[in-house]
Amino acid sequence: PVPVVAVVGRPNVGKSTLVNRIIGRRQAVVEDVPGVTRDRVAYDALWSGRKFTIVDTGGWERDARDRAKAIAAQAEAAVLTADVVLFVVDARVGATDDDEAAVRMLRRGGKPVVLVANKVDNARQEAESAHLWSLGLGEPHPVSALHGRGSGDLLDAVLAAI
Ligand code: GDP
Ligand code: MG
Repeated sequence: PVPVVAVVGRPNVGKSTLVNRIIGRRQAVVEDVPGVTRDRVAYDALWSGRKFTIVDTGGWERDARDRAKAIAAQAEAAVLTADVVLFVVDARVGATDDDEAAVRMLRRGGKPVVLVANKVDNARQEAESAHLWSLGLGEPHPVSALHGRGSGDLLDAVLAAI
């Protein structure tokens, strides 16, 4: 069976941009407006000769209501069906209360988690991304999903976690 990698995180942290970067084409919907991805969407991906399925999810929020609550529930379902979770954090913002709540949700899921410090567009921001060690998920992998910086190293870490 092809391993499944779920991409999870708060709205607007760059999950869909990262999925596009990983699948090598523009298919996941990227928006400046938070919460645009409405569902779980799966794509075929390939890295270092290994196939996997990557699942884009909508923004996870702790106190989500109504539509947002359904979107968060879909993200949680994606975690339960994944072999590995890519947990995406906006390194420019740093760890928020919702990020910490998401970490607790991921712990309950019991799946291996690779921590992505996204929006690290340059070397200076890379140093700041070290603050995300505080989430207790191990090494933050600095990435610029928008520009591609660090995405190869991230994918190596994902394959190592499968
Ligand atoms: P999602 O809600 O987590 O799926 O986030 P999106 O992928 O839709 O991205 C939200 C916004 O963040 C968009 O305006 C993206 O262009 C921007 N973005 C995503 N990744 C990066 C990045 O690596 N660097 C910068 N500067 N912006 C990014
Ligand atoms: Mg999205």
